[in-house]
Amino acid sequence: MHEIFNSAAYREAVLQFDRASEGLVIEEGLRERFRRPQRALVVNCPVRMDNGEVEVFTGYRVQHNQTLGPCKGGIRYHHQVDFGEVAALAMNMTWKCGLAELPFGGAKGGVAVDPYTLSQTELERLTRRYTAEILPLIGPNKDIPAPDLGTNPQIMSWMMDTYSMTQGYTVPSIVTGKPVIIGGSLGREEATGYGVAYVTEDAVKKHLKYVESPCAVIQGFGNVGSHTALKLNDMGIKVVAVSDATGGIYNPKGLEVKKLVGIVRGKGKPGDYRNGDNVTNEELLKLECDILIPAALGRVITKENAPNLKCKIVVEGANGPTTADGDDILGDRNIPVIPDIVANAGGLIVSYFEWVQGLQEYFWSVDAIFDDLKKRMKTAFVKVAEHAERDKTPMRLAALKLGINQVAKARELRGLYP
Ligand code: NAD
Repeated sequence: MHEIFNSAAYREAVLQFDRASEGLVIEEGLRERFRRPQRALVVNCPVRMDNGEVEVFTGYRVQHNQTLGPCKGGIRYHHQVDFGEVAALAMNMTWKCGLAELPFGGAKGGVAVDPYTLSQTELERLTRRYTAEILPLIGPNKDIPAPDLGTNPQIMSWMMDTYSMTQGYTVPSIVTGKPVIIGGSLGREEATGYGVAYVTEDAVKKHLKYVESPCAVIQGFGNVGSHTALKLNDMGIKVVAVSDATGGIYNPKGLEVKKLVGIVRGKGKPGDYRNGDNVTNEELLKLECDILIPAALGRVITKENAPNLKCKIVVEGANGPTTADGDDILGDRNIPVIPDIVANAGGLIVSYFEWVQGLQEYFWSVDAIFDDLKKRMKTAFVKVAEHAERDKTPMRLAALKLGINQVAKARELRGLYP
């Protein structure tokens, strides 16, 4: 377990916890508990590849805290996944659930694999084996996985099927983010990106009142990035650049978002869109714009590039895209950051709706889902913005403080076992 403290991502999560919880009444022993995960499983999954050979993939499931309810958190497939990163993301999930006032604790999972190098059959075998390996931890009342970077509704279907086979009956509420036909929720696929867009709309009203027609740059054009772009486009916010792992495309007059989504979903890349200039991911972050939305990997806004960003606000679609020193520089430059636990909570919120619908086997209309999602996102934004203004702190600290306080208060009420 101690190896997580060698991870920069984990150390940063602890640092942010320490900064945000300063001034909260939490006894030191419990504070120390919050700095560590509750439990974690490291699994090595042997998978028969299409060429007949066996390859071993290392995976993780980390549960940080379940004071508020069963654990909730996505599964990430990426070649750089490691124990520390997963543990950091799990901790962040705890505070995100607290802030959103949902009855969940924080968890996260991941497998160190580049999913784009695997065939569908290899991906299915890996997913089934990984699910079987983490069976001791997961369950609809224990720990409910969801999609994250590199995973999708198909992968959630295989996870649900594998779990259901071990129980002998169908258990839809074991995962969220599954296709609607097998018990998924309407709106779940769009939820994180739409949530980012709703919060961006509020942030524009608050911080960019004097900008006539604000424009946005988005890094990452997968689930979160593409749905954010589509919704911003509907709202009349011009998207001028987007990228994926292969690079980006920029046109200061605005991109045709629907066309780009069609290209990328058709297995193309942003660079295949003709009406713009190609940019690298590093160049994209430094483009002149009003709103910068990192929606891919963590730790992309750092002390190296933060002095050169030319945006007026940052809205964090990705988890942990800004390092602590990058954050300090943006603070010194008066560039407000709408932190991940506020901005990208839409997926978690509709996952909660999906879990509730699955347990009840009663499904809601898409309008009911988006109305409730919008209400909750806007309430969280206002709550955090007011808190930040009152305490004269950045929104990240205010959001974390509110999330941590919720968990700490619940812990106090529940007391300490035994
Ligand atoms: P995804 O796999 O659907 O898309 C990821 C995108 O990032 C792809 O366009 C990919 O090409 C791009 N990318 C990968 N490596 C890159 C690199 N080095 N530079 C630039 N782009 C790169 O994943 P997603 O679900 O959209 O998740 C994106 C981020 O949002 C992650 O940080 C994830 O933790 C966070 N998030 C996702 C959800 C969700 O519901 N899916 C919810 C909350 C937060």
